[in-house]
Amino acid sequence: MTARVLIVDDVPANLKLLDAKLTAEYFGVLKASSGPEAIDVATKEMPDIILLDVMMPGMDGFEVCRRLKAAPETEHIPIVMVTALDQAKDRVQGLEAGADDFLTKPVNDLALFARVKSLVRLKMVTDELRMREATGQRIGALVGGSTERMLMTEPGRVLIIDDRPTSLKRMSEALAIEHTVAVAETPDEMMQLAAIGDYDLLIVSLTLAEHDGLRLCSQLRSLEATRQTPLLAIVEEGDTPRLVRALDMGVNDYLVRPVDRNELVARCRTQLRRKRFQDYLREKFQQGLELAITDSLTGLYNRRYMESHLGAMLDDGLASNKPVSLLIFDIDFFKLVNDTYGHGAGDAVLKEFAQRISQNVRGVDLACRMGGEEFVVVMPDTDLAYAVMVAERLRTRIGETSFKVDGGHELNVTVSIGLAVVKGPGDTAEKLIERADAALYRAKRDGRNRVEAEAA
Ligand code: GH3
Ligand code: MG
Ligand code: MG
Repeated sequence: MTARVLIVDDVPANLKLLDAKLTAEYFGVLKASSGPEAIDVATKEMPDIILLDVMMPGMDGFEVCRRLKAAPETEHIPIVMVTALDQAKDRVQGLEAGADDFLTKPVNDLALFARVKSLVRLKMVTDELRMREATGQRIGALVGGSTERMLMTEPGRVLIIDDRPTSLKRMSEALAIEHTVAVAETPDEMMQLAAIGDYDLLIVSLTLAEHDGLRLCSQLRSLEATRQTPLLAIVEEGDTPRLVRALDMGVNDYLVRPVDRNELVARCRTQLRRKRFQDYLREKFQQGLELAITDSLTGLYNRRYMESHLGAMLDDGLASNKPVSLLIFDIDFFKLVNDTYGHGAGDAVLKEFAQRISQNVRGVDLACRMGGEEFVVVMPDTDLAYAVMVAERLRTRIGETSFKVDGGHELNVTVSIGLAVVKGPGDTAEKLIERADAALYRAKRDGRNRVEAEAA
């Protein structure tokens, strides 16, 4: 992962040290040595994350943080406050100023990279969301930053395993203020609960007396239900080897004992936000995809999808030297259904019609609604003779059984079908549809409720 990090510190030696560490890990580094300069650089350069020293002459880190978080252009940039060791008060003040996380001086490499990566991952997701909202793509009616706020403040479901009663009690109480907290007694129970509980965050102690916390983390990472769920580890001060393995395994972040409650709350909030955004985007993407390619009344593919996909199906057919057939359906006297029984009945017929079509074609066949009462089925690896047979079968499935609509009416519906087959290299989707359309026209002209193939 690469990202641009703005480091802010009034002491040149500190800047130099952080610069060297980050550059060695291939991060891009920007520097500022005072509060006003930090705001200036942040606004001009839009870094992915800011590491902000608290103690600076003139404008201190808290003030810089407040200003950046109050400005719409920079409010989304994650800020990590770099505080002097053991200044619990600073952390609270940092949180209140809107900081996203903390690091204590002297900055430990593992902590630095764990935090920076975790926040950059969160930012990548939120940037995606902001971009989509800005372009209004696929997001429906949701507007602007309100989504961000809404997602951020919603309480989450947290599952913890820790065999030290005092520590467990302290963490549960701190988290229960915002979230719902559940506790697992053993790794087995954790796995069982996690598999079905739809948790937003998992917290695992790596220092369980009777069990292997690392093994549990690895199992949680391979379980389908928790593969993507944020995972926080609790480690003993100085237990670097175990922490390194945990981070390698995909643990998202960690806390060192004794766990500071503000730190715990802040870390959980970051992880929960990331998960919320991810869930949201996945859902929106899925919905957007469906909206974009399917017809909402019948659930069949829409014309746009058919047109973009037909070319590929024809190419496949040509490449493998197999025929591709295309059928166009047009319901007979459909206007009469609407005029006689109403538009609702017409819609019901269209739905049922679509169902009968899709139940009577293969999985590889592409069924779609072209619009109105016109449908298309594309059949790969199907020659003209076979396509005629399928078309006849479909025509029968429509005509032989009446359509039941609201009001107890049973309507007899018939369909006319025109079909064409790919003629070899040089033939195109457009020409294929044109020939099938011409055949359909003849079917209509010659009495309807019939199948006509293109002239051989
Ligand atoms: P033909 O046998 O020549 O095809 O006659 P037809 O009445 O089926 O053809 P026409 O193209 O004149 O009429 C199609 C009708 O389909 C007109 C339109 O109101 C109706 N229609 C188009 N889309 C929808 C829809 O989504 N729902 C309903 N209920 N009706 C629709
Ligand atoms: Mg029509
Ligand atoms: Mg019609």
